Amino acid sequence: MTMSGLRRIGISDPKGVDRKKLMVFVEIDRCATDAIMALTGCRPGKRTMKIRDFGKMAATFINLESGKSVRVVARTKKKSPGGDVGGIPDYSLMPEEELFSISEVQVPLRPEDLPGKPLRSVVCGCCGETVLDGREIEYQGDSLCRPCFEKNDYYQLKEVLE
Ligand SMILES: [Zn+2]
Repeated sequence: MTMSGLRRIGISDPKGVDRKKLMVFVEIDRCATDAIMALTGCRPGKRTMKIRDFGKMAATFINLESGKSVRVVARTKKKSPGGDVGGIPDYSLMPEEELFSISEVQVPLRPEDLPGKPLRSVVCGCCGETVLDGREIEYQGDSLCRPCFEKNDYYQLKEVLE
């Protein structure tokens, strides 16, 4: 998946000479993400890997220099021509076009999405916590963090300790 993506956007040395040219969006929080991280050197903390947790075995590889971007999706439905091993297709027998669906795409990136120092920092008008990199939402003249704006968080507050 990684090799197909990198080849098509003209990146051959993601950890070497091409290391500042590459960004990857992954759409799953499973081992494929770790594999892509290991092969490309892209990491969330370097802001070169973005995780969109859609539960899909898919990733988009972006050449930041040329703008060329491809989205690679692992095909799961088709059976392999050489028969399946215990229900799992024998991937080694399958040509690339049967393994993956590959599309050329365009990914709008804002300056705040790119590697480098934070470009912006605001304080949420509701919870008072700091929001970096333009992730705030302007609402009725206030800057709000996304959970305050959506009134929806992944946790439920039990008690403020300090
Ligand atoms: Zn807030």
